[in-house]
Amino acid sequence: MSKYVFITGGVVSSVGKGISVASIGTILKARGISVSVQKLDPYLNVDPGTMSPYQHGEVFVTQDGAETDLDLGHYERFIGIELTQASNVTSGQVYSSVVAQERRGDFLGGTIQVVPHVTNEIKSRIRKVAEISQAEVVIVEVGGTVGDIEGQPFLEAIRQMRKDEGKDNVLYIHVTFLPHIAATDELKTKPTQHSVNELRRIGIQPDAILCRSDKEISEATKDKISLFCDVDREAVIALVTSDTIYEVPLLLEDAGLGEFIVGRLGATDGKANLDEWRDMVARLKAPKEPVIIGLVGKYVELRDAYYSVREALCHAALAHNREAKIEWLDSEQLDGRADDKLGHVQGIIVPGGFGYRGIEGMIRATRFARERKVPYFGLCLGMQTMVIEFGRHVFGTDQVNSTEFDASTAYPVIDLLPEQRGVEQKGETMRLGTFPCHLVQGTLAARTYGAEVIHERHRHRYELNDHFRQPLEEAGLVSSGLSADEKLVEIAELRDHPWMLGCQFHPEFKSRPDRPHPLFLGFVEAAMETLTEGAQTSLPLNP
Ligand code: GLN
Repeated sequence: MSKYVFITGGVVSSVGKGISVASIGTILKARGISVSVQKLDPYLNVDPGTMSPYQHGEVFVTQDGAETDLDLGHYERFIGIELTQASNVTSGQVYSSVVAQERRGDFLGGTIQVVPHVTNEIKSRIRKVAEISQAEVVIVEVGGTVGDIEGQPFLEAIRQMRKDEGKDNVLYIHVTFLPHIAATDELKTKPTQHSVNELRRIGIQPDAILCRSDKEISEATKDKISLFCDVDREAVIALVTSDTIYEVPLLLEDAGLGEFIVGRLGATDGKANLDEWRDMVARLKAPKEPVIIGLVGKYVELRDAYYSVREALCHAALAHNREAKIEWLDSEQLDGRADDKLGHVQGIIVPGGFGYRGIEGMIRATRFARERKVPYFGLCLGMQTMVIEFGRHVFGTDQVNSTEFDASTAYPVIDLLPEQRGVEQKGETMRLGTFPCHLVQGTLAARTYGAEVIHERHRHRYELNDHFRQPLEEAGLVSSGLSADEKLVEIAELRDHPWMLGCQFHPEFKSRPDRPHPLFLGFVEAAMETLTEGAQTSLPLNP
């Protein structure tokens, strides 16, 4: 039988609840305890797939093709597990399921209510993760902040779980924030007290409190929180902002949280083996030579939109003992003077995206990379801009485009996937999840992966149009990764270029700090060489 750790958030959002959850998973796993994780999101969207990155940051894709909250990315990267659709539950899913049951007549005669019908549905979805994973401990993060209207049914459901599962099998951890008042140089605990009161009003008494703060927390402050919030002194844990998110498991472990959780849940105790993790964090924090990567996208002012890409670059750079220094370049600002902004970068990456806005700037960056022979890595949309740009060069016209951006283009080098034609509904209708890809031997892709068949995660509607494949290949575009039926080009690269490769999938989702992704490794390595060769930046850009 699984045990449950429920994590709630108080005071403000963005205190690092997702990282805390991922870190708790890490320190439990380091004791040999099997862990799974779930995120409960109170919003009414069925999944974040239809949301703009402005709303909720990156959409993370699981191997089984669920479009999920970016916190699942933290969980997978830190704990080194692969999650499924069941690990991200939203109010939208819960309510649509309850309403569908009602329409089927499942509750015939009954009045359908938030308690017990909605809460039962939530509890059954929590238990499903335990069932699927068979994990010793299931960590469940409740999204949002205590006090949000939408969050109430979730809090009520997790309250009931302690009664249902037995009090030794359920633990509540509350993550709060201690604001710093500069005038008196004090950290204030009052908002934490209020948010614990709010939790208690629902019937949840937290077992532990993680206090996020930008300053060191004094023993007196911890004593005060322990007293006013009625939490054991050793369970008031300081979570002081660290240099790198990967340090958080070490902070929590050193503060005694792992031991506390294991003691309370009576889970198998073992010494936490975090030696490799400690070593990785020490290497991350050590000063290193930078490798400068220009990331050209349209949401660059919002770093969360490209979270997994940023992390994958960091992992790959670390493996080469470098620090990935990302220059965030707004593709809409990348006009004719691309030179000024790209002249000094060692590699260019164009990440995923949807819609026409900012596309021409990305194509300009792609052209810069091709002509100056700067390493280029295109992720999904970035592969498409690479094919469009190469098409414009080969066919000698700016008419070349994707039908996503110009429905009536005479040169639709990128077009809808056949199964996408006629699909009108937006949610969950893309080509989603893991597909195998066969690598063509002798290509950059095959060399970089060192494999024949790979499996990667997809999220797209468009692909390279078969009709243009031959002329593009004849001009130097290499189709180096193909779908199992060989109909879809999953990876394309340029023949006469040191490292220019685009993939139709999202390799960033599979990168881990201790297992960097081969394509990111290869790209960063090529970028490092840009510096040593140095000469390219002086080449003139073709008119
Ligand atoms: N908009 C493109 C498509 O749907 C690219 C998607 C992406 O980058 N994830 O095919």
